[in-house]
Amino acid sequence: MLAAMPDSAPSPLSAGGTSPRDGGDACPGTLRLHRADDGALARVRIPGGVLSADRADALLAVAGRFGDGELHLTSRGNVQLRGLDAECGGGPAELLGAAGLLPSAAHERARNIVASPLAGLDGSPPVGGWLSELDSLVCGSAAAAALSGRFLFALDSGRGDVDALGADMTLIAEGGDCLLRVGAADEVFRLPSADGPRAALLAAELFLRAARDSGAWRVKDLPDDVRTALVRAVGATVGPVVHRPRPRTAKAPAPGPVTAPDSSTPATTATTVTAISVGVPLGRLVPAQWRLLTETARRYGNELRLTPWRGIVIPGPFGPPGPSTQSAQSTQPAQSGQSGRAAEALDALAAAGLITGPDSPWTGVGACIGHPGCAKSLSDVRAEAGAAVGPVGRLPVYWSGCERRCGHPHGEWIDVVVTPEGHRISHVRGEHRDPRTVVRNDPAALASAVSGARA
Ligand code: SF4
Repeated sequence: MLAAMPDSAPSPLSAGGTSPRDGGDACPGTLRLHRADDGALARVRIPGGVLSADRADALLAVAGRFGDGELHLTSRGNVQLRGLDAECGGGPAELLGAAGLLPSAAHERARNIVASPLAGLDGSPPVGGWLSELDSLVCGSAAAAALSGRFLFALDSGRGDVDALGADMTLIAEGGDCLLRVGAADEVFRLPSADGPRAALLAAELFLRAARDSGAWRVKDLPDDVRTALVRAVGATVGPVVHRPRPRTAKAPAPGPVTAPDSSTPATTATTVTAISVGVPLGRLVPAQWRLLTETARRYGNELRLTPWRGIVIPGPFGPPGPSTQSAQSTQPAQSGQSGRAAEALDALAAAGLITGPDSPWTGVGACIGHPGCAKSLSDVRAEAGAAVGPVGRLPVYWSGCERRCGHPHGEWIDVVVTPEGHRISHVRGEHRDPRTVVRNDPAALASAVSGARA
């Protein structure tokens, strides 16, 4: 069982240097819109990325009635609505609230929770119980309303996928227990699975105390001594320490069918298609695509899972795989000619422009909103990324219109950033950045350089 939260902050706080809060927490939400060049922007938190078909309908309705009609997936599995009318007032929040997407006005920007999209679908344990409990606990905690829009919880089914995203508090399923990671610490705490959500909230509340003087938004922003003291304080309240370095590579679900061992049959090798997974080019969905995804979800499990890699997983059941169906989560590439309901659904989604297999040139390509949506952008990076798509590369690539690199991936990736000198291409591995080249005003050379860097 968890110990009570200590009354005092974990350590004296170092208040030196510039506080990350000095610039203010500018993260947009549903109630606090951001003014962009293409109109107001709302970011709707979708804890765990999990949406029912009805809630997906509500998002589309708001996008169509108040915005530009499109839905943009974020690197945390949330949805952004763009081009909102300055006169929309509380209209979007009213509709989203009626659909259950705004359970607490005070906590709307604190509900930042990512979850393994394939939890319970690929043989790894489900994390839905953690998700609903943690979301309820966050919304029920007066203290948690002070968490910034940047603070992140992650619920990892043991795949190591969202554990690699650098969340502030991560719960990891392991052998029926739960591991709690605070920030990027290599030491995690083991505790009973049922205690996980409460421990994560408790640790977040301890973080808020620790951050009081330094003004940090996130665990990584804390001064070293304060962060060490925070980890120690969390450990004193939860359980024994286990050495478990954080995974460096965040592995997105591959597009295609998702299979798992079929527990309904005694044959140990039998599998069943539990879900389908698609990628969304540049994370942007037009109404017809969103409608098709929602209709597909309604036909099967009535659920969509928005992934932190700008993809969508639709749980089934889709039945047994056809003779030529190869799970996209296998180490082998998916084969064409898939049969059955999964293949039918994937074919329709592919025809609508979504990524349904590993051979799509859009696989692994991402970009920020760029020009004309963002005033800071030095170019239309989405158009440039589209013009440069080519053979699928080993590494993902992310195009940014300026050095802020909003929504960039984690782990190992190719960074293309527009600078006054040209497009600068770098190879990023965690915190390490290896500059490769700068290409100026030459689209063909740029495409070739990007392709070479990804190979
Ligand atoms: S990276 Fe720069 S250009 Fe792109 S959306 Fe962010 S601020 Fe705008």
